[in-house]
Amino acid sequence: MDAIILENVSKTFKIPHDYKAGIKSYLLGFFNLTHCYERFHALKNINLRVRQGEFLGIIGPNGSGKSTLLKIIANVIQPTTGRVLVHGKISPFLELGVGFQGELTVKENVYLYGVLLGIQQKEIARRFDSIIHFAELERFIDTKLKNLSSGMLARLGFSIAIQVDADILLVDEVLAVGDEAFQEKCYSIFRKFKREGKTILLVSHDKSLIRKFADRTIRLHHEK
Ligand code: ADP
Ligand code: MG
Repeated sequence: MDAIILENVSKTFKIPHDYKAGIKSYLLGFFNLTHCYERFHALKNINLRVRQGEFLGIIGPNGSGKSTLLKIIANVIQPTTGRVLVHGKISPFLELGVGFQGELTVKENVYLYGVLLGIQQKEIARRFDSIIHFAELERFIDTKLKNLSSGMLARLGFSIAIQVDADILLVDEVLAVGDEAFQEKCYSIFRKFKREGKTILLVSHDKSLIRKFADRTIRLHHEK
């Protein structure tokens, strides 16, 4: 059975250009028309099926649309055209900082982020200690998030994401900022999830990591 099906999925962003050259654009500016937009194809006609229990590696250069693809699957953004079908509950661990609030403490963020991921408040309270323990942030529970390093943020985000009872785990390349010991812990989670038959999509530049875990790998390219 397929966990994820993408049919002809495309995503176009409008990227603004400011043109300020000469009197003409000055006059256009007067009418507030100085912005023009370029249509930018981040993803074009993606067809993809991911089997239940499959570990899919996603590679490709910066800007080739890897994060956009995960966000579309997680329903954080909608595709411009095409269809997305997902069977099962998703736990997304996307770009660092998505869903985090720098002015709030680690503890407050665990609750906030947990709720965003659809975990009940009571459930978060029950799992709070193991989230903090896995993230190794016992000393920093009352520290504002903006004072954590990117590695600590990655640990916290991943730690919350794996507490969701999900069927599908989406992991963007953020794990790379964690140190070696933490990465080892993440790998043991990957192995556990694989044993449990969960579907995992992992974006990474780490070829050996992909080789170690992925049943199949797709590569995204820049638009030609
Ligand atoms: P990757 O994760 O492979 O590095 P992304 O999916 O983040 O690439 O981005 C793909 C392309 O889409 C990039 O050129 C990026 O600048 C562009 N892009 C992503 N999000 C937006 C957005 N919200 N508005 C405009 N352009 C965007
Ligand atoms: Mg990315």
